[in-house]
Amino acid sequence: KLFNEVQELKGNIRVFCRARPCLLQRREHSAIEVIDADKVLVKQKLFEFDRVFGEVHTQEQVYEDTSPLVTSVMDGYNVCIFAYGQTGSGKTYTMSGPPESRGVNFRALEELFRIGEERSAAVQYTVEVSMLEIYNESLRDLIQNRPDERLDIKLGADGNPCVPDLLWVPVHSLHEVWEVMEAGSRHRAQGATRLNIESSRSHLVVSVVVQGVNRHTGSRLTGKLHLVDLAGSERVARSEAEGARLREAQHINKSLSALGDVFAALLAKQAHVPYRNSRLTHLLQDSLGGDSKTLMFVNVSPSAEDVSETLSSLQFAQRVA
Ligand code: ADP
Ligand code: MG
Repeated sequence: KLFNEVQELKGNIRVFCRARPCLLQRREHSAIEVIDADKVLVKQKLFEFDRVFGEVHTQEQVYEDTSPLVTSVMDGYNVCIFAYGQTGSGKTYTMSGPPESRGVNFRALEELFRIGEERSAAVQYTVEVSMLEIYNESLRDLIQNRPDERLDIKLGADGNPCVPDLLWVPVHSLHEVWEVMEAGSRHRAQGATRLNIESSRSHLVVSVVVQGVNRHTGSRLTGKLHLVDLAGSERVARSEAEGARLREAQHINKSLSALGDVFAALLAKQAHVPYRNSRLTHLLQDSLGGDSKTLMFVNVSPSAEDVSETLSSLQFAQRVA
């Protein structure tokens, strides 16, 4: 039990490494070795995480260790699940997955509604979902799909940052929430085509807010689950990029390092946590730190060609672990 039972001992941030299989069509050769349930070896460097998943691990096995977080959401905690890694390393596969092999998103939402059903005699739950994209430090609502409207983050009545114009859709079943998310994904793809950007260059944030009212005592709780498929972490050489592409890369670098800085500050229990250095960390402020729980997947490619990006992803993640 990686989360709920060892909480006090280890704090609230877990890092799971996942190496995807070699892709035959790319004729990849593996340069990494999963040594143990929690160790991976790359270029004679050993990295240790809370868990390491290799090519043998199924979506179901990966989800098994994620599942306690979903229970936490239903108990009133705020939870963030991130996928970090270079483009092509398996972030979207881990979070969304193909229909025949669903990822963390689908399984988490399925479990959320299952727990709601199980507890329905005692607690009445309501669930709302929103979906936004952060590209070049601009926020866009993927459900409302107003292509030219950019959203602002403001201070909410509860003292936490909020996005006043973001649409929250009430959902009553897995089927409903999935339809909303599929519409959001279509809007994201349309926007990307229109603006000629790749979806791997933006962060995708799906947020689910759960409110529970105890039918007997009237007591209330709110839990939040943020599912974040981050922009690709690959470094872009100055010599290769210019103009829009370079600006894009700089925004991604800045927001990913801001995320790393927030985790580092939380781990060091620093009084000041620099949430305001990126839109992503500002947006998620009330779900990073405090009694919130975070899971970071660091996705890596096993390919010999990707070794230097793999090392840099593992180093980023090591700083957080
Ligand atoms: P990213 O979102 O990081 O750019 P993707 O999730 O799109 O990467 O994965 C890149 C390719 O690798 C896709 O073709 C995907 O289907 C495949 N892939 C990723 N992870 C796995 C896995 N665990 N098992 C099988 N195929 C995978
Ligand atoms: Mg992707």
